[in-house]
Order: sequence, then C-alpha cells, then structure tokens
Amino acid sequence: VFQIKAFDLEQSLQEVTERYEKEKQKRRALHNNLVELRGNIRVHCRIRPSLPFDTAAGHSISQDRQRNFSEEVASAADDETVLVKCSRPGHASINKTFQFERVYNASESQDTVFADVAPLLTSLLDGYNVCIMAYGQTGSGKTYTMLGPQLEENFAFPIENESELGIIPRATQEVFRLISEKPPGSYWVEVSVVEVYNNEIFDLLAKDSCGKVSGVKRDVVTTREGKSNVPLLTHETVENASEFLHLVNKGLQLRVRHPTLVHAHSSRSHLVVTLTITTVISGDNFGILWEDEQTSQRLNKEVSCTFPQKMRDNKSTSSSRASSPAQLEATEKLKQVKTRLQLVDLAGSECVGMSGVTGAALRETSFINRSLSALADVLGAIAEQRSHVPYRNSKLTHLLQDSVGGDAKLLVMLCISPDQKYLTESMQTLGFGTRARQVQRGQVKKKNFPGQSKAK
Ligand code: ADP
Ligand code: MG
Repeated sequence: VFQIKAFDLEQSLQEVTERYEKEKQKRRALHNNLVELRGNIRVHCRIRPSLPFDTAAGHSISQDRQRNFSEEVASAADDETVLVKCSRPGHASINKTFQFERVYNASESQDTVFADVAPLLTSLLDGYNVCIMAYGQTGSGKTYTMLGPQLEENFAFPIENESELGIIPRATQEVFRLISEKPPGSYWVEVSVVEVYNNEIFDLLAKDSCGKVSGVKRDVVTTREGKSNVPLLTHETVENASEFLHLVNKGLQLRVRHPTLVHAHSSRSHLVVTLTITTVISGDNFGILWEDEQTSQRLNKEVSCTFPQKMRDNKSTSSSRASSPAQLEATEKLKQVKTRLQLVDLAGSECVGMSGVTGAALRETSFINRSLSALADVLGAIAEQRSHVPYRNSKLTHLLQDSVGGDAKLLVMLCISPDQKYLTESMQTLGFGTRARQVQRGQVKKKNFPGQSKAK
C-alpha cells in the first residue's frame, strides 16, 4: 500500500513540477513583454565560481575547498534571485536577496548565458538598437563573460576554444548567421573598437599613415539630431565572424602597445565594441520587406549591381565621414537603415582606497570612479524622468548616450565574485543593478524601415 501511495505521490509531484515549469515560462514571457513596454533595462547577474586566487596562497587544495565553501557569501538562490548571506563575529549579519531578470550560478556555462542574449540579436535585425554591458569589480568575470578567457600576455582571446567563447564572439556569429538567412547583399556590417581610458576615447582600429594600426584619440560630439557621434572613428567593414574577431583581437592587443597605455591593465579602461548593421531597402518598396519574393529578388539584383564595388572601395579605412552609405544613397534609389549593437566591458567598479595610491594609478582610479558614478547618475536622472540627463559629465556616458537613454534594448550583465572578501564590492554591484532595473525609459523604439532612413 505504501509503495502504491509513494508511486502516486511521485507521479503527482512530477505533474506539478511540469505545470510549474510551464507557468514559469508563461510568467517569463509576460514579464518580458512588460519590460519591453516600460523600456526597462534588463539586468542579469552572473556569479562566477570561486577560483584559486580568491583565497590566500599556501593552502593545500582540500583546505582551500573548505575555506571556499565557508567563505562564499553570494549565491544563486534560484534563476532569478541572488542570496547574500554572511555572518561574521563582530559584524552585523547580512541576509539579503536581490531579484533580476535572470541569475546564473557558478556552474552555468557560456552557452547558457548566450542563449538568453540571442533573442536580442533577432531584435537587432528587426530594427532595434541593442546594448549589452558587463558591470562588476575587477576579477568578477566581466571579460570572461563578454569575450571569453583571455591569454595572459596580450589581452587577446583564443578564438579556437569555441565552448569558452563569450558574448561578443558568439553575438557576432549569430548576427552573421541571421544575415545569411536574409537576401544576400541587403545587409552589411561595420565594426569599431573604442577604449575609454582616463576620460579619453581611443580608436583602436585607427591606422597611421603607413597603414599600421595605432590607437588614435578621438572625441565624442552630439549631432544636431541629438545623437552621440565620434567623428573620424574607424569603421571597418567585415564579412564574417572570424574577420570580425581578428579585428577585435588586433584592437585588444593594441591596448598594451599604445604608448599612453603602457601599464594600463585591461580592467582600468572601458572597452566598447560596436557593430553597425546597415540594411538596404529598395526605394520603391518601403514597407514591403523581405517576405515579398519579388521585392527581395529585385533588391537582390540592384544591390549586387551597386554595392559590392563600393563596399570594397571603402573597406579598409572608411571613417564615419567618408563611409559608403551616404554615397550610396545619392547614387541609387536604395535607402539604408542603420541599427547598432554595442558591447561594453566596463572598467572594474571597485572603489580602490585612495590612500597610498599616487600618480598614474590615482588618476586612473579617480577617472574610473567618476565615469561609473556618471553612469549611475545618468540612470538616476532617467529613472526620475528629470528634464536634464547629465550624459556629458563623462566621455563614457556621452559615448553610450543613445544606448543608455535612447531607443536601445539594454542589458546589464552584473558580474559577482562569490567570496566573502569581496562582499562590499558585490553589494555595490547588486545595488547598481537593482537601481538600473527600476529605470523606465518608455517603450523601446524600433527603427522605422519604411522611408525614414537617416540621411547621414
Ligand atoms: P574581470 O574582467 O571582471 O576583471 P575576468 O573576466 O578577467 O574578470 O575574470 C577573472 C578570472 O576569473 C579569469 O581568470 C577568468 O577566466 C575567471 N572566470 C571568470 N568568470 C568565470 C566563470 N564563469 N567560470 C570560470 N572562470 C571564470
Ligand atoms: Mg576585464
């Protein structure tokens, strides 16, 4: 009798679990719609595993394990909740939870993280701007999450190890995959790589007069339409994901070679990789898009007649001033719409104690603190719907203005180190994410494909 009862219970438990999963998915879909409607910033949080360097050297492995277990204060309570629990003698004990759109525990893979990001890329090709930025203290896994594990010496990342690749390379692959499903020639992709260091913007793809890549200082301006723009920024046309990755890697390596950045650790600067996707639309057929067989065939023909040559002419050193779109628009009845994917690896968010720090390190630290608090101020101003949003208080916020305040779908990926010694920084990061989540920017706008392409 007991066995039968146990069997029945087990079965009904399974049913309930299945139903719960279904309900959860429904709730998620609804929540996603709500996020979309309010123009909320999506916030995900990734807790990385404890790593050997978290604990002092000199312990045997088993001791380390033990220590790690007892010292982990941040964990994923479930896939939407971070639990911070800590009780130390002599300190007030902490037992706090934080809710986000998604929380990843230490064992969740790059694959899993990317699976949640991928839908944003579909939106990108549907005409939305998208921005994904990683926020957290140094060593919390921002670069790992955005790029993948880096090679020690040169900040580059190995392209071969596919399963370890982060969001940036995967997003690029996905973008090109999505494009390959569209009529050929109707899209093209340009990339720019920018570093913000000590409140200065460096173009990491700029070439000198001999054609050698050498980071060049640029400025960010606000255009008459109120958009932020970096004049003369190098945009390289890329035709596939591996071309893109080689470019980004070249840019990353430059971070170490650049004369003013000799000793700059990667976490001392913000990295902004931008993919600009230009969609070409035939002038007579605004509104009727690719689904229409005839249009796409004709578009196909027109585009392949007029595009490839110009694209190649401009390929190596097109700057935003002399880029192909403007010429194209003048020459043909084709219109183009640009959407933008910005991928941001922010500098470490820790507030390094200023005492004892001097010279270059002090300068770096105060610039980082200022730019990140400028970012928080901007979010605060948007949240309170103030008429003035202080984008121009730092180059970082000025550069990201359109993504943060404008019409982009924005995802903030919080990165957390679980160990107790990072408690203060982790709480700061979780606080930043919580505030970001409260920002409502109004419904995110889709770029209007029909007839409204910017004449730029
Ligand atoms: P940050 O860019 O925030 O300073 P990193 O991405 O460089 O931090 O990560 C610090 C170290 O932790 C690196 O050695 C990285 O490979 C490792 N790491 C980070 N996140 C993970 C993870 N989820 N799984 C395994 N190792 C990780
Ligand atoms: Mg880093």
